[in-house]
Formats: sequence, C-alpha cells, structure tokens
Amino acid sequence: MVHSLGTHRLTEKQKRAQAAAKQRKLRALHPARYRAAVKKCHDKNKHKHYAAARTKDAERKLFVLAKYGPRGEVRCSWPGCDVVDPDMLSIDHVLDNGYEWRKQNGIGGRRFYIFLAANAKSLSDYQTLCMNHQFKKRADRCRFNRKHNSDFSMLIPTK
Ligand SMILES: [Zn+2]
Repeated sequence: MVHSLGTHRLTEKQKRAQAAAKQRKLRALHPARYRAAVKKCHDKNKHKHYAAARTKDAERKLFVLAKYGPRGEVRCSWPGCDVVDPDMLSIDHVLDNGYEWRKQNGIGGRRFYIFLAANAKSLSDYQTLCMNHQFKKRADRCRFNRKHNSDFSMLIPTK
C-alpha cells in the first residue's frame, strides 16, 4: 500500500501568501533580523531596481516633453527650432515664474516631471524648450527688464 506524503501542490498565489506571512512573523518577532534580510535583498537587487527606475524616468520625461511640445511632439516650442534631442530639451515656465513656483511647492528635478506627468491641467503654463532657447528667452527678458539695448544685430557683419 502506497501512502501519500501529503505534500499537496500550492498555487503561486498561495506560495506568495505563505512567504508574506512568514515575513510578517519574522518582522514581529525579530525586527533586527527582518531589517537585515530586507537590506540583503535590496543590496542584491539594487542595480536591477535602479536600472528600472532610470528607464521609468526616461519614459516619463519623453511623455512630459511631448505633452508640452508643439503638436504633442518631443520638440522645442520655439518657432522654427528643430531640436528634438531629449537630452537638449527641458520644460519652461511660460510666465518665467519657475523660481517662485519651486519655492512655493518645493518640487524640483525628477519630482517636477512626476508632477507634470500626473497633472492634466495648467497646460498653458508650461512649454518644451531646448537649452539654447531657454537662454535666449532669459536674455530677451533681461534686456527688456533693464531697458538696456544690447542689440547684437549691429555687431553681426552684413554683406
Ligand atoms: Zn529651440
């Protein structure tokens, strides 16, 4: 007569639930050992996690650049500008209130893109610009504010 050993097969979901229960027990009974196990797992997989995070950041940046680009394209919004390289593009505060906005909201860098990706409203407050046109816009603004006419056109030789 053959006796079954009673090892019935668990589904993946049951296995995960069992592992989670084991983790919860370990966490409750031996917090230090639990933290060490979590750290060990993180250290082992961190490069995978970081790579996944970088991919996600890049995807989000492309999404946001297209959202605020002309006709939904990843492109500089300056008329006649052909820059499409995402490394050379960034988001411009149309009203030049980026500094105050960052101070008020405490959101900069990566979190700014997360904010823009999540928010469908205020589309007219932002636009995609290349770095050259960010500087050009700033130069125009400085010139206007100083009412100082450093006009380069007279310095450019004409034929
Ligand atoms: Zn441009």
